[in-house]
Amino acid sequence: MTTDQLQRPLRDLRISVTDRCNFRCRYCMPSEVFGPNYAFLPKDEILRFEEIERIARALVPLGVSKLRLTGGEPLLRRGLDDLIGMLAAIEGIEDIALTTNGVLLAHHAEALALAGLKRVTVSLDALDPAIFAHMNGIGAKVDRVLAGIRAAQTYGLPVKVNAVVQRGVNEQEILPLARWAKENQLTLRFIEFMDVGESNAWQMEQVVPAAEILSVLESEFPLSSLPPTHSGETARRWQHADGSAEIGIIASVSQPFCRGCSRLRLSAEGKLFTCLFAAEGHDIRQMIRRLDQDTELQQAVASLWSARTDRYSEERGQSDRPKAEMSYLGG
Ligand code: SAM
Ligand code: SF4
Ligand code: SF4
Repeated sequence: MTTDQLQRPLRDLRISVTDRCNFRCRYCMPSEVFGPNYAFLPKDEILRFEEIERIARALVPLGVSKLRLTGGEPLLRRGLDDLIGMLAAIEGIEDIALTTNGVLLAHHAEALALAGLKRVTVSLDALDPAIFAHMNGIGAKVDRVLAGIRAAQTYGLPVKVNAVVQRGVNEQEILPLARWAKENQLTLRFIEFMDVGESNAWQMEQVVPAAEILSVLESEFPLSSLPPTHSGETARRWQHADGSAEIGIIASVSQPFCRGCSRLRLSAEGKLFTCLFAAEGHDIRQMIRRLDQDTELQQAVASLWSARTDRYSEERGQSDRPKAEMSYLGG
């Protein structure tokens, strides 16, 4: 098993399949920055499915057993179910998940499930149509996301819902989201607004800390705390007292969890990032296009991971180096 300088194993690979998105969430891809003239990655610089599959396969002996497809909006990548089928066939891959804004999910859920997808995380920050339309930056309708969630459930895909909470924007949605998730027996995660990238004008005052989210939840719901299911779990979790559903908080700002971080990220153009807040990635696209064998790739990734010291969230505020955008890197 490959471990880094802080004895953290490499276990998860998050694969960004595109840097493009059909939303312009203000906290991620504000339209003032990601406008009509924004230079997204050209097609020939994006990894082909065969290349993604080859990288994932090569990383299994180093410890990777869990994959998550993300973006940008991964469902914009044509034929994503083909990629999932290829990844599902890799021996040693135990879990393949997808993070999506859900707006195209109703159309794709059946094919994704048949291809071997194990579960879906749908991002949904508000049920109120006006708040949701404002946050996604394009006026997208919440009903389409709800239809996507229902379709995923129909085809047997376990669904988790992620909601970023931003002060002054959607903290009034905490209880409505919690009620709705409980009624529909969906696992819900609230996420603290993070200082990812350089575009979202993040300010600490806009973070609603986990303790505050929890006290809002406890004002209405009796909750009992759940133990972590595995080391490196990002969410603190609770169970509704009646056992109906689970609820969690990802407190990356107020209670960082770098200590257990086993995640490596692959950008759509083939750069590896050892942290969500890294400034630069390590280009492996040229390497795999040049080489027939994977030995050199495995050695390069093993030495990259062994040298890893990243713990940005624990050091927040101590550095002002630039950071890659989350829509590029993959959430
Ligand atoms: N487009 C897909 C989606 O929204 O689910 C996948 C990519 S998106 C970058 C992955 C996750 O990152 C989403 O749940 C989104 O809410 C979250 N995210 C983006 N910017 C964030 C920020 N500044 N703070 C916290 N979470 C953020
Ligand atoms: Fe797109 Fe997801 Fe970023 Fe929203 S959070 S802009 S849906 S990549
Ligand atoms: Fe992992 Fe970096 Fe996030 Fe810490 S800040 S949990 S090291 S991705």
